[in-house]
Amino acid sequence: MPVYRGPPGREDSRVSLATLPPEAAPRAPATPAVRFWRRLRWWIPGVIVLLLLGATSFLLTLSDSQERAQAQDVLVSDSLWVRQSLQFQLEREAEALDLIAADLARGSLGRGALEARLRVFLRRGRESLAVVQMNHALAVSVSVYNDSSTASLDPAGAIPPAAVEAAMDKALRAGEAVFTAPFAVPWGAAVALVAPVKGEPPTFLVAVYWLERLLGEMVPWTFAQSHEVTIGDVAGTVRASHSPAGRGRGVYTHQAPLEIPGATLLLGTNSLKGPPDWITNVIRGGTVALAVLLFWSLWALWRDVQRRVAAEHRLREEVAFRRAMGDSAVIGLRARDLDGRVTFVNPAFCRMVGLPEEALVGHGPPMPYWIPERTDEYRRRNDEVLSGLASTAPFETVFRRAGGERFPVVIYDAPLRDADGRQTGWMSSIIDVTEEKQAEERERLQHERLQTAARLTTMGEMASSLAHELNQPLGAITSYLAGSLNLIERGGASAEDLGPALAKASQQAQRAGQVIRRVHEFVRKREPQRVAMDVGALLEECRALVELQARRTGARVSVEVEPGLQAIVGDAFMLEQVILNLTRNAIEAMADVEPARRVLVIRARPCEGGGTCIVVRDRGTGIPDAVAGQLFSPFFTTKTEGMGMGLSICRSIVEAHGGRLSFERLDVGTEFHIQLPAP
Ligand code: ADP
Repeated sequence: MPVYRGPPGREDSRVSLATLPPEAAPRAPATPAVRFWRRLRWWIPGVIVLLLLGATSFLLTLSDSQERAQAQDVLVSDSLWVRQSLQFQLEREAEALDLIAADLARGSLGRGALEARLRVFLRRGRESLAVVQMNHALAVSVSVYNDSSTASLDPAGAIPPAAVEAAMDKALRAGEAVFTAPFAVPWGAAVALVAPVKGEPPTFLVAVYWLERLLGEMVPWTFAQSHEVTIGDVAGTVRASHSPAGRGRGVYTHQAPLEIPGATLLLGTNSLKGPPDWITNVIRGGTVALAVLLFWSLWALWRDVQRRVAAEHRLREEVAFRRAMGDSAVIGLRARDLDGRVTFVNPAFCRMVGLPEEALVGHGPPMPYWIPERTDEYRRRNDEVLSGLASTAPFETVFRRAGGERFPVVIYDAPLRDADGRQTGWMSSIIDVTEEKQAEERERLQHERLQTAARLTTMGEMASSLAHELNQPLGAITSYLAGSLNLIERGGASAEDLGPALAKASQQAQRAGQVIRRVHEFVRKREPQRVAMDVGALLEECRALVELQARRTGARVSVEVEPGLQAIVGDAFMLEQVILNLTRNAIEAMADVEPARRVLVIRARPCEGGGTCIVVRDRGTGIPDAVAGQLFSPFFTTKTEGMGMGLSICRSIVEAHGGRLSFERLDVGTEFHIQLPAP
């Protein structure tokens, strides 16, 4: 296969990436500003989500605090209303007891009437347990109980004396009923209402109120259902609490002083309502979860986009690289689809055929670079390639440039497959082999000239031998003719006498003529011909010239042909030249050895691997190691007048016949082998 050295006169085929179309050229590197904006593009949604999260959180907090404030406001107003109601009711109690005390002071009530009035007083509510009349020394004179069960509690006895005494003094000073501060009793907490009964000495009506019951009776039921209500002293100690629906949550609380005659209590309210956070928390949690989800999806999107950008970048680089490769290739590239339409050509192919890309891409057969008279051949090849029948071996043909000039090309076709491995067409590499063909032609001519020169050299060497050889028949002819003339001069020569002498002279003349003709044929330049021939006949043809060569050194020649040899096919004259070259070298190698050793053997025998082998053996000086490696190199010679072309040409000739020329170093001398293949 010829080595491609590029099309003649091709200009620099390097392709700058700047010349690529925009879709194939890599993008210019991004400036810092562009990079910043690209980054910002991803930050903006994130910031928006954060702002949304903040705003939602703020709104939720706002609504939460508003709801708390609203609930607190409701609690405060309800508490104040309850306080108002309690104050009012307790004031009524004090007024009612004052009225009884006033009637008692006037003396209008006997003991029975007093007890009846007091019973009526007590029956107004369950909170008042008992009313007793006692003097300043706390001696009880009259005592009335709300019911029999309360009597067993001994409410009057449970009042701390100090508290009741202080209240008595206060009541006397004020001249009206006053309440004591709350005090602890075994069954809870209580307050006493002390009303002064004017007289000498004054007595007092003391009513005992159970605080828990007081709250139960006086606090409206609806309020008690949603609040825990407590009563404490001014020091803040809770004395009684009322919470039928459960304990207060401590979220919404309120305390207000309960101003009652002679004392101040602390009314506490504690709503059962919990903080409003579960909805807020759910909304807040939901918003955070949504934001996290949004961030995650944003991140996933960003990753995906990054991957796509990277893949796109790689793809662009790959496309640019392949395009640059195609553009800078010195061999022509052409892609065709399955219908034979050209889908791609590279600049080298365009230059080769002298047509622009637009004139080729999209075109189907017949192509503009086809030679008109060979259209059928192209079409056949085209169909073979497209149907997949064509061999993948390189295909030699001739194309036409746009200017009409024809040039030889070698085409390599290969299937074109897509990413899924499906064949989408054919890719062809086209090499312009004009230079190779010219070089081959030059080499052939050179070879031919060398062959002629070698023949002439052999011829020159043979010329002296030829003179010697011709001397013999010429000398014999001269002798025969001189003898015949003598006979004629003596006058007695008959035809019988002259006949044999002239016949012998004619024989010698023919022999001389044969020698001259062989030499002439050998020297004549001619075209190689391939004909079948018999090896024995070939060697016989050579014999005369070989013997001529051998005569100079007095070497003996032995030609041995094994019977039953196959015919060989080739150019007889060329093969003769090979044999004569080998015999000449053999004879020269034996020139300086003792005469008895000068035996040249030419043998024809079947080859081991098939075909025919011609062996030329000498018993000469042999081939030293230093010479063996270069034996077939052109111009290598060890002789002063040698050309060194003999063996190189011989090998080319044998190889042109499909054979092999080799040598073997013997103990004494050398053996050359011409192996010719079977026809
Ligand atoms: P030339 O005969 O002109 O030198 P060749 O190519 O025929 O060129 O031979 C090259 C060299 O190979 C010779 O110079 C010789 O040294 C060596 N040579 C060839 N044949 C023989 C042989 N039979 N015995 C020894 N040497 C040989």
